[in-house]
Amino acid sequence: MNIERELAPKLKQGFKKDEPMSAHTSWKVGGPADYFFSPASLEELREIVRAGGKYGLPLYIVGNGTNLLVLDGGIRGLVVNIGAPFNYTDHSNSILTAGAGTPMPVLAKSACEAGLSGLEFAIGIPGSLGGALVMNAGSFGSYIGERVESVKVVDFQGRVNTLPEEELSFTYRDSSLAGAGIIVEACLGLTRGDPQQIAGTMEDFTARRRSRHPHLPSAGSVFRNPADEPAGKIIEAAGGKGMRIGGAQVSEKHANFIVNTGDATAADILQLIRAVQQLVKDKFGIELQPEVRIVGEER
Ligand SMILES: Cc1cc2nc3c(=O)[nH]c(=O)nc-3n(C[C@H](O)[C@H](O)[C@H](O)COP(=O)(O)OP(=O)(O)OC[C@H]3O[C@@H](n4cnc5c(N)ncnc54)[C@H](O)[C@@H]3O)c2cc1C
Repeated sequence: MNIERELAPKLKQGFKKDEPMSAHTSWKVGGPADYFFSPASLEELREIVRAGGKYGLPLYIVGNGTNLLVLDGGIRGLVVNIGAPFNYTDHSNSILTAGAGTPMPVLAKSACEAGLSGLEFAIGIPGSLGGALVMNAGSFGSYIGERVESVKVVDFQGRVNTLPEEELSFTYRDSSLAGAGIIVEACLGLTRGDPQQIAGTMEDFTARRRSRHPHLPSAGSVFRNPADEPAGKIIEAAGGKGMRIGGAQVSEKHANFIVNTGDATAADILQLIRAVQQLVKDKFGIELQPEVRIVGEER
């Protein structure tokens, strides 16, 4: 018996085998996952987690894949994608409850429709709520962690736990939720606001992002900002703008973005990340740290 045979009859959708991760990342690169599965329900998720444990398969969780560099050799084991079945929102008073698969712009619009303020910053972040919580995603001076009341996770034994805010910590582009299990839902504490005003703020944020960000496939900011200056400014000052390896290029529009100009491989992107780090270290003695998560095997 293997995991596929054991679970196939019980699941709504089948496993995908050797699924190219390039289809699930915003950079559009990445080799195959041995197994790729999008659970249709919480029960399916718990079942797959338990089965993965039983068969000793390493488990990796993917949301919208907008902060991931999956290497060209792909991911060994089981990739679980928290997607559409976990895309829902509901609100009661000023608490917005949302599934981890809810895209951040959908979350921001739902809050606006409910007359709730506090998630305007999320309008242009292309990740899912689950990925945003792990990364403590933010922009325009706000971040998701400051809104969290509680987070529901499935642990690696398949048990459902609700973690209250007091048990969580959120720091710059990181949180205690990394490695804590699979996030399935969160409750966010917002404040009452005027929907028209909230919508106006979101339009302004959208326009500002459009003018600053490149349109080619990317993973947003590649490097964490050092304390004193944004990474993009440092890379630009070091002469890194436009640097290219294969199909990967440091964006001419925003130096902290690396874009896939069409035929980039993960190896091109990884080499370019290292080349930019070296350039900045040589010029200014600064060691830039990647913000993107690098996963999988090199080919
Ligand atoms: C054009 C562009 C603009 C961006 N702008 C911003 C920005 O302004 N601010 C910002 O902070 N980020 C930005 N990002 C980066 C990215 O969108 C965020 O980090 C986002 O929160 C990642 O969410 P995701 O669902 O894509 O996560 P993924 O990339 O799929 O995963 C990221 C991490 O979270 C984990 N993870 C994902 N879902 C779950 C889950 N349900 N349970 C447990 N772990 C999970 C993964 O294992 C991985 O470690 C941008 C990206 C792009 C492409």
